[in-house]
Amino acid sequence: MNKTGTIDFANLKLAYTDHKDEINASIANVLDNANYIMGEPVQVLEEKLQKFTGAKYAISCASGTDALLLALMAIDIQPEDEVITTPFTFIATAETIAFLKAKPVFVDIEETSYNIDPAKIEEKITSRTKAIMPVSIFGQTADMDAINAIAEKHNLIVIEDAAQSFGATYKGKRSCNLSTFACTSFFPAKPLGCFGDGGAVFTSDKKFAEKMKSLRLHGQTERYHHKYIGMGGRMDTIQAAVLNVKMNYYQVDIENRQRVAETYSELLNEVVVTPTIKPENTSVWAQYSIRVQHRETIAAKLKDVGVPTAIHYPKPLHLQECFEYLDYGAGDFPIAEKISDEILSLPMNPYLKKEEIEYITSQFKTELL
Ligand SMILES: *Cc1c(COP(=O)(O)O)cnc(C)c1O
Repeated sequence: MNKTGTIDFANLKLAYTDHKDEINASIANVLDNANYIMGEPVQVLEEKLQKFTGAKYAISCASGTDALLLALMAIDIQPEDEVITTPFTFIATAETIAFLKAKPVFVDIEETSYNIDPAKIEEKITSRTKAIMPVSIFGQTADMDAINAIAEKHNLIVIEDAAQSFGATYKGKRSCNLSTFACTSFFPAKPLGCFGDGGAVFTSDKKFAEKMKSLRLHGQTERYHHKYIGMGGRMDTIQAAVLNVKMNYYQVDIENRQRVAETYSELLNEVVVTPTIKPENTSVWAQYSIRVQHRETIAAKLKDVGVPTAIHYPKPLHLQECFEYLDYGAGDFPIAEKISDEILSLPMNPYLKKEEIEYITSQFKTELL
């Protein structure tokens, strides 16, 4: 608990003070060298990311959103192309598809994992489908073997939106190394966060890697010679310097997140629907989300006793105003709609103490009765 007696949802302040001297030194090193753009810490980070995930190439970039754009641009997505994805995710997943004038095609989710349901993908494939973009929601990957098999059969590319799952595993292999492309985010509140915006895109395909390295630098191949229409999508050296320190402690953070989640589940299992992690998965717990009826009342009462909550996400993407032109309606994806109505995220960060989790869950149980 902090000084005012309230629980901190993501505890970003402790994420700094926990390693303050090392982070300060790492940032100061950038300032001393004034290598703000594509400085050495950027290459150091990319090597660390490759080693950690097992992907051959990690290309750092300005955000998770840019990572998604870089992957879609690498496969040359064109207007009218279709990309299959889930409606139960953050807007960036489908937004990047639509930003390139391609069409997001939604598929409903599994009621257990809240990830795209592989059994419902094939019926949505058309001659215009170019890619499948599963999202590893809340920190656990989708069934990537099943999705890769469908993609292979229909000659499609798979792009994992791993913005919430960096560090998670599927059948012993790391998220970000499970398909042709993976995109992650280092937004401060993600499991591995920097101190601003940041992201990375992963592939083991050399040609795609080279193209994305160029796309992130305005499509240039050498200075002021531009092969592609690209973007200004670099990660700041200062953010790489922060991540280079935080990467050294990330495995400990993951274990602490898992400890927090296990404690929550033990204390709440019998009163609400707690998260299901499939046996072939480990999660990095981007969110710890339960399902409740009367969500607004419970959230308001918890707030009164110093327990913040959040809703990820209150409205599935097919019902968002910006996607009205896609002509979806209520009832099209019943599971995504039901989960959106019931989901409620509790405070999640590696610094939550056992007593705090006990306080949160006991307050929660009081509100339920
Ligand atoms: C956070 C997030 C993104 C976007 O990442 P940014 O770094 O904020 O651009 C994309 N997809 C999902 C699922 C996310 O949670």
